Amino acid sequence: MTHQSRSAEIAATVADPAPVLQLIVVSAVEILQGAAGVIALLEGEHLVPRASYGLPPGALTNLHPRLDRVILNVLGQLGEQVSVLYLPSGFGDWARRYHVLALPMQHSEQLLGVIYVFRYVDAGGFSDRDLHVLDVFARQASGALQQARATADMLAEKTRLEEMQNTFVSIVSHELQTPVAIIKSYAATLAREDATWPPETIQRVSHNIEDECDRLHRLITDLLDLSRIQAGRVAMRVGSVDLAQLTTEVVDQLAPRSPRHSLRTSFPANFPIIRGDADQLRRALFNLVQNAIKYSPNGGEVLVVGELMGAAAVIVRVIDHGSGIAPGEEERIFERFHRSDNRLSRGTAGVGLGLYITRSIVEGHGGRIWAESDGPGRGSVFSMLLPVGATPA
Ligand code: ADP
Repeated sequence: MTHQSRSAEIAATVADPAPVLQLIVVSAVEILQGAAGVIALLEGEHLVPRASYGLPPGALTNLHPRLDRVILNVLGQLGEQVSVLYLPSGFGDWARRYHVLALPMQHSEQLLGVIYVFRYVDAGGFSDRDLHVLDVFARQASGALQQARATADMLAEKTRLEEMQNTFVSIVSHELQTPVAIIKSYAATLAREDATWPPETIQRVSHNIEDECDRLHRLITDLLDLSRIQAGRVAMRVGSVDLAQLTTEVVDQLAPRSPRHSLRTSFPANFPIIRGDADQLRRALFNLVQNAIKYSPNGGEVLVVGELMGAAAVIVRVIDHGSGIAPGEEERIFERFHRSDNRLSRGTAGVGLGLYITRSIVEGHGGRIWAESDGPGRGSVFSMLLPVGATPA
């Protein structure tokens, strides 16, 4: 088999890089008529052996530190091919003298790893032709390895999305069933013919029914928005928007239901009226303030601050002192269906759509949104940057 067809075979191999590496090392040894070979991949700072061929059992672990000392010092940094004489000790029959050819595996200037091929000294040293053949082969093999890694990443991402979708379906079913069950039981209670209820009870139960209907309504609106965003059918009704006023409306709406939180707003007197869709921006603010309340279960202050960014843009920040965001999650929480995998999120009503919708609203206005947190338990800041003049994206 030629090294080209071997490489093609490698390229066609499935996404798991392990068999690819094995095929690469076997092929490299065969092509160079060597006795053994090893592939070590660069993982962080270190080259870690990931495949070998022709080595006695256990040799790899012992061999690697020696290779490191003997060859890597020369090759690791330089990324050049080297051929050295090598005498492994402590390997019984394997303790012969070898020529070792070490070749960097590179892709787009990036060192992926090193292929070592061992040949008995009495079989002769490596020729320039050997070097050339293996060099070409190593390039093709590196490409195949990179491709396998990219495919593996893609499959992992696909699996992650599928898992997210499954979680979403179960959360949505739960989120739909819970209010329906609550409303039904309240209605059945009120309708009992054998009981009369004092007016306060009727009022409390009616409020609860109203709250559960609101919850259902929000979920249905979120789902409809999701399908509109995905179909690219979000219409904007652009007009003058007073963000300070909208914030007050949102805070007034949420404050009565959040007795443990103190909701504050702070906008400078010269905060400009911007161009945008008032309903959508109210929705974005509502989502952020509602989250700030939801994810600070111990109560505390929720502050909405308006800031000027020169004459052309403004920032609205929603600051809470709640559960915070784990490092590395700051981007992901904006993905649809994504909910942080912590006890608080699991125990809090929600389907993981609020931030996705909010981001799509902000970006629809030509703005940007991001989250910052000093880590779990240390509060969060969500910032929306919006242009003063509407620049619908
Ligand atoms: P939901 O609240 O329905 O889960 P969101 O899209 O609004 O959906 O939020 C996604 C996730 O982001 C939440 O599940 C939560 O883990 C995290 N999150 C959102 N806002 C905050 C906040 N203010 N503090 C901490 N975590 C937050």
